[in-house]
Amino acid sequence: MAAIETSGLTKRYGDVVAVDGIDLTVEEGEVFGFLGPNGAGKTTTIDLLLDFIRPTEGSATVLGHDAQAETDAVRERVGVLPDGVGLYDRSTGYRHLEFAIESKGGSETPDELLDRVGLDREAAERPVGGYSKGMTQRLTMAMALAGDPDLLVLDEPSSGLDPMGIREMQRLVREEADSGTTVFFSSHILGQVSAVCDRVGILDEGELVTVDTIEGLREEAGVGSRLVVEVGGDA
Ligand code: ATP
Repeated sequence: MAAIETSGLTKRYGDVVAVDGIDLTVEEGEVFGFLGPNGAGKTTTIDLLLDFIRPTEGSATVLGHDAQAETDAVRERVGVLPDGVGLYDRSTGYRHLEFAIESKGGSETPDELLDRVGLDREAAERPVGGYSKGMTQRLTMAMALAGDPDLLVLDEPSSGLDPMGIREMQRLVREEADSGTTVFFSSHILGQVSAVCDRVGILDEGELVTVDTIEGLREEAGVGSRLVVEVGGDA
């Protein structure tokens, strides 16, 4: 069974085609990089997979469930790190994590999850309104890991992290993949996905223009390599 399968997935906003007929298969256990410049349609695609928005056309199956008709079954098994999260400023990181564990279940305690993402207990006891972007990313990663998800969907997880934070995040992704979790990982920077991804899909103006391994992409001539150069880099 594929972890993610989309068929002609499309989202239009008036004249803007945010996602343009995407046919994509992500295999179980795979780390898949979803790469594209800002505005390419990455967040819109993720929102469609999780039924935060409805497609104009097409369909998506996530972990064997219809993303639109069986939303609860999908969300139960998916850990999400959203781009620009709605956290409760006055509530502590610890409380957020407890809430994520209460709603998702799973065997790990808040302290174990904090330890995995490198957020110390003292920081976790402060309201998240005072967190830096990097601390927020660590907390939301811990929340995504709560409940032992079968699929991790990470929207720009390295945003706001320093180089060490990025390496730790990549290590976490690899660790999760080694334990059998499928990871779908969006970024606009090739260097951040190439270290951890088995395959990469490149999105350009809503269209999935290429799906390949990193080596394949580098060798490929034409639009794929042009986009790799444009969105690439190691930062
Ligand atoms: P970023 O990394 O900057 O978030 P992205 O690849 O995630 O970029 P999306 O946010 O999915 O891109 O946006 C894709 C396109 O759809 C953009 O042109 C955006 O302006 C447009 N778009 C997204 N949401 C809406 C909306 N609710 N109404 C109108 N246009 C939208």
